[in-house]
Amino acid sequence: MKTVYLDNNATTAVDPEVLQEMMPYLTELYGNASSIHNFGGQLGKKIDHARQQAAQLLNCHPTEIIFTCGGTESDNTAIFGTLARYPDKKHIVTTRVEHPAVRATCRQLQQQGYKLTELPVDAQGRIDLDQLQDEITDNTALVSIMYANNETGNIFPLKRIADIVKDKGAILHTDAVQAVGKIPIDLAQLPVDLLSVSGHKLHAPKGIGLLYIRRGTRIAPFMVGGHQEFSKRAGTENVPAIVALGQACQLAQKHMTDENTRVKQLRDQLEAGLIKTCPNSRINGDPHARVPNTTNISFEYIEGEAILLQLDRLGIAASSGSACTSGSLEPSHVLRAMGVPFTAVHGSIRFSLSRFNTQEEIAYVLEKVPPVIKLLRSMSPFSPENSPNEILTS
Ligand code: PLP
Repeated sequence: MKTVYLDNNATTAVDPEVLQEMMPYLTELYGNASSIHNFGGQLGKKIDHARQQAAQLLNCHPTEIIFTCGGTESDNTAIFGTLARYPDKKHIVTTRVEHPAVRATCRQLQQQGYKLTELPVDAQGRIDLDQLQDEITDNTALVSIMYANNETGNIFPLKRIADIVKDKGAILHTDAVQAVGKIPIDLAQLPVDLLSVSGHKLHAPKGIGLLYIRRGTRIAPFMVGGHQEFSKRAGTENVPAIVALGQACQLAQKHMTDENTRVKQLRDQLEAGLIKTCPNSRINGDPHARVPNTTNISFEYIEGEAILLQLDRLGIAASSGSACTSGSLEPSHVLRAMGVPFTAVHGSIRFSLSRFNTQEEIAYVLEKVPPVIKLLRSMSPFSPENSPNEILTS
């Protein structure tokens, strides 16, 4: 059975053109880019080229980019690296809906004595910009606010956020893992200091990412050792993966229009179709500011895991807002922060598309999902048809 893969915010397929580009560096061109001999040394040019490709996508200077092993490392580098340079400042501002790569890192720092402000969000997942302004003080070293949310696809107003943060004199990091490649980002116009990218969310392999560091930003290395990556990230360069990320960035730029038209249309069609055919379902997120590939839908009164298992049997891969990587049934911290009601938070499903999805696949999902929801509802003790009212309201 062919899989209809709608879990692209978890990870994406490596684009065949990316694979083709990186292949020689896994086989015959296996040298170390730091070597004196040409066999290895020639690879430096390939790394430079990849850096240029990435810089072009973000509209920044290539020397403002360091390659890392992924989004988590980029986030950790941005946070720990900044705090190390501002030892007198002990306050971090972030939001309640960050990915664990930022959230858990900031909470760990809180346990070590930092003051942590996690900005709340409204029912659509938006922060209050006045509150952001009020929370930043002279003691604030870093503000870390994501560009796009991985669960809902919400896009944060980074330009306005950046203007506020820079005006207050703090450093601004944004986790742009779910934004890069999906929406245009122009760092010449956007005064963020640090921006994280993960390769496997934009059709490069896992284990590669980058951190944009605006020229002049003070940041200590997180990985310490050799002098690679302008002495900001030690470790022998992963040349095949770096080449792949460069190529993936170039392709992302080429496909940006498709992402924002055809993929968006498919997402909108899927979303509208499911809302229409599945009663008691609702969209989670800001309908006016979302990345074009993501929809998060709550099918009320049923469990997300039960839906996913049924979809899996039908060859549809999506993900649930309630199961986290640890396998626990803790409801999503993002949806809880948005105040999504209990009966809806547990039945939330994220469908995330990519440029490889087709109209036929969406038609298949629209045909298969409604009967699954109907079946599960018929078995749910929480469903209005099956339960006395007091269970619902308790
Ligand atoms: N930040 C966000 C918003 C993400 O969605 C993810 C991955 O899901 C990460 C960070 C972590 O990236 P990586 O898997 O490359 O470490």
